Amino acid sequence: MRQVLLVALGVVFAVSLIIGLFALNHANQEQIELTSRLQSRSQVLADSLAESIEPSYNTRATSTVQRIIDRFVSSERLSGIGVFDNLGAVVASSQDLPLSDEGMLVATVMDSDEARGDFVRQGGNTYYVHAIPLHEDGRVVGALAVAQNATYIDESIRDIWLDSFIRWLSQILVFAVAIIVLVRWVFFRSITAMVESLRAARRGGAPFDMVSDSSFFKPLAGEISKVTRSLRQARRSASEEARMRLEKIDSPWTAERLEEFIKAHLKDRPIFVLSNGEPYVNAKVKNGIEWRVPAGGVITAIEPVMEACGGMWIAHGSGDADKETADAEGKLRVPPDEPKYTLKRVWLTPKEIQGYYNGFSNEALWPLCHMAHVRPQFRREDWTEYRKVSGLFAKTLLDEVRHVERPIILIQDYHLALVPALIKKSRPDAQVALFWHIPWPSAAQFSICPWRTEILEGMLGADLVGFQTQQYCNNFMDTVAGEVESRIDYEHFSIFRDEHRTFVKPFPISIAFPGSAERLEEPDRSILDGLNIHTSHLALGVDRLDYIKGIPERLRGIEFLLDAYPGYRGKLTMLQIASPTRGSVEKYAEYRELVRKEAQRINEKFGTHAWKPVVLEEKSYSHAELRQLYQLADVCVVTSLHDGMNLVAKEYVAARNNETGVLVLSQFAGASRDLKGALIVNPYSAEETSAALHTALTMPKAEQHRRMKTMRASVRDYNIYRWSAELIKALSRLD
Ligand code: UDP
Repeated sequence: MRQVLLVALGVVFAVSLIIGLFALNHANQEQIELTSRLQSRSQVLADSLAESIEPSYNTRATSTVQRIIDRFVSSERLSGIGVFDNLGAVVASSQDLPLSDEGMLVATVMDSDEARGDFVRQGGNTYYVHAIPLHEDGRVVGALAVAQNATYIDESIRDIWLDSFIRWLSQILVFAVAIIVLVRWVFFRSITAMVESLRAARRGGAPFDMVSDSSFFKPLAGEISKVTRSLRQARRSASEEARMRLEKIDSPWTAERLEEFIKAHLKDRPIFVLSNGEPYVNAKVKNGIEWRVPAGGVITAIEPVMEACGGMWIAHGSGDADKETADAEGKLRVPPDEPKYTLKRVWLTPKEIQGYYNGFSNEALWPLCHMAHVRPQFRREDWTEYRKVSGLFAKTLLDEVRHVERPIILIQDYHLALVPALIKKSRPDAQVALFWHIPWPSAAQFSICPWRTEILEGMLGADLVGFQTQQYCNNFMDTVAGEVESRIDYEHFSIFRDEHRTFVKPFPISIAFPGSAERLEEPDRSILDGLNIHTSHLALGVDRLDYIKGIPERLRGIEFLLDAYPGYRGKLTMLQIASPTRGSVEKYAEYRELVRKEAQRINEKFGTHAWKPVVLEEKSYSHAELRQLYQLADVCVVTSLHDGMNLVAKEYVAARNNETGVLVLSQFAGASRDLKGALIVNPYSAEETSAALHTALTMPKAEQHRRMKTMRASVRDYNIYRWSAELIKALSRLD
């Protein structure tokens, strides 16, 4: 719109200039013509009057002269007549003769013996005074002045300007409207159509045919149509090729392959994902609104799948600018840079967040499922909110799928355990999978939950329940066997209950292994300079500030190492990225203090003015920044006390494109099942962690290569696209 205004302003300026110049010219012409007419009339009048006056003037018959003057003034509608003697004194004159130059005109006329005229302003009017000399015997004996009202000339010029102004105004209006209509509907429409066509082609949709719209753009539009057609063709061939590769197990899974797989398997059935956390949070900042991707494994894993497959992701809108950036239904297209799917935000009240999220999810289920020796808090009011919010998520989903036949629904994690049954009750045709990202505890451990049966029944509404490891599947089957009346089929790993069958299967979650373009990146040390880290060895920890992550235990491992091998002092830095999480839960606040204290204690014990053994970064880093750090770290230390999978371990491996570096990994993290090349430790033993660190820091390059290669192959082969394909394949086969 700004450009349209600029064009309109330019045209207004040009039109004004042209009309202004025309008006000026017209006014000048008119002035010249009217003045010349006035002058000639004055001349004629003055001459004929002189003829009548001269005989009486020469005989000094002043009264006769006066009579002639009075008669002339009234008959010719003159403004005044004056007769002067040769000294310039008035001999006879009409009333109100306009003469402002104190006789100068008359004197000049007599001296030069030539007629002259001049304009005089008097009493708000303009007069034209024409003077001629009077003769007697060929001598100048006086002068005669005739004055005519010339105000009409000014009025006529004013009328010309007024007319021009009105014409200017109407032309401007007509032009402005014409330009806006022309630019907006002809140019902008054509350009927008071309942009849309290109965008549709880029996203793989059918491009619009916009060639006939405007002949002006025909050649350009024609070319664009050809380009988009070629693009479509190229896509089709690529897609055909991908389809042919589909069954080849040795080619790695990619976003494109997943997209093809989903098209082939689901035949346009859309995917709906439900999770507590949203993939994009909008927050208010000083100069407006920003978006960020929150730290956490669920988002890291599901986001690439949604980007590849489209569909809708329903999640809690937790950002303080989330409402402003979504439409009235809470929807927006994401990723913000290049939209590929719809995010639908669910709004929760502070009471619901407290009870459902902080309370039941994070203070009851989280410690119940993780063996980190934090006692679960079971509060009825939290449970009430948890049930209420489950209903809200289920209703939101059901509204969205009301016109969708056999929708595919992927529910994420422990926050939404009750949702599968709620959905299935209303929509038995929906295919529902629940993926449990965190560990499933032993039957005995789970049995302390007062609402265990309701939780299990909620989960068993799903057609497929996925866990990270086979061990968690086994634990779940045992738990159901002990708590819910059902038939357990250990052969096929399924549970029959109320005519419904739920399959239980491990799907170890993973990450999107970087593509070939990303593999060429060079590590950039400036990020370490910014943190004032200059040591030759770098150990890295990346975690949410969660008590399951074993950060104090890891720091004690570093302390043990520096005590046992003083040679590392001044040469090794442990960089711990600790991104804030669940700040309003008391245990997390206590944990943050503990981590700070431990880092400070160790720094005081070994640090010098030039070196700090532990650099604690209590903030969230972006994936791009983390990738830099992964590439720079000699060792990545993951010492979770209990962790469903731990994607940081896989991200480290994926980022090590030179196939060096060592991963120290807790035996209690799900990732330890997949990453066989890691140095596996018991995180509770500082001595073991220290020994693994020493082994890592002194490991020969060849050994590092061997281990890293195996781990990279495993992450490449079992990446998030394969995870998703296997989950969807397993679900869609359950007909
Ligand atoms: N993460 C991040 N910024 C940070 C810290 C972590 O983006 O500052 C990401 C990290 O890259 C990983 C995820 O958060 O993808 C953590 O997943 P993980 O499975 O290791 O642990 P979770 O947080 O799910 O328990």
